[in-house]
Amino acid sequence: MHPSKSTDRLIVTAPLGHKVFTGSQLAAVAQAAGPDGRVETTPQQYLLVTPPPGRRGAVIEELEAAGLLVYASGPAIRPLRVCGMCKGPVVEGLPAARALNAAVVGRPVPLPLKVAYSGCPNGCAEPLIHDIGVIKEGDGYAVYVGGRGSGQEPRVGRHLALVAEGELPRLVERLVGLYAAEALGGERFPAFVDRVGLERLRAAG
Ligand code: SF4
Repeated sequence: MHPSKSTDRLIVTAPLGHKVFTGSQLAAVAQAAGPDGRVETTPQQYLLVTPPPGRRGAVIEELEAAGLLVYASGPAIRPLRVCGMCKGPVVEGLPAARALNAAVVGRPVPLPLKVAYSGCPNGCAEPLIHDIGVIKEGDGYAVYVGGRGSGQEPRVGRHLALVAEGELPRLVERLVGLYAAEALGGERFPAFVDRVGLERLRAAG
């Protein structure tokens, strides 16, 4: 598990691109939570599991042994939300999505930050209303920043760049690195984008 700051709850996902949990994985989740435990579902396609007191370490081991991915739920980058990859994982860029997820998920940031990936401009993972959104366009990957789907001022993300597959994880790593280093207290990513501006963010990439 990524060593970001711990909170009680654990984020639990299937490996990226797996659309189902197996029965044994769900049994492991039930075992981990205990008979009176809580398991929450989220719009971001992961489960939030609250381990019983004193069992956090054991629960993490049990869930990972079942083939699940486990992350702390503190201020960190959330697991990538991905579309249904309906046209096939190769055409829709599943390897790129996996590389992006591996590069940034769990990284500590001032406030939780959500990244979404869609394999075509239909945008089924809602990339334009996430902090950072990626849409595969032909052989390239369009990156949008500063979207927000909830709260008092929902808004559409702004186009930052169109990059090749190999550049995508590095660009997003640099964006979140800049946010981690320069965000003002309590500043969410969309407000950070507004303050520093697209040109500064492009230069960082
Ligand atoms: S974004 Fe495109 S590839 Fe992904 S599920 Fe929607 S239509 Fe299919």
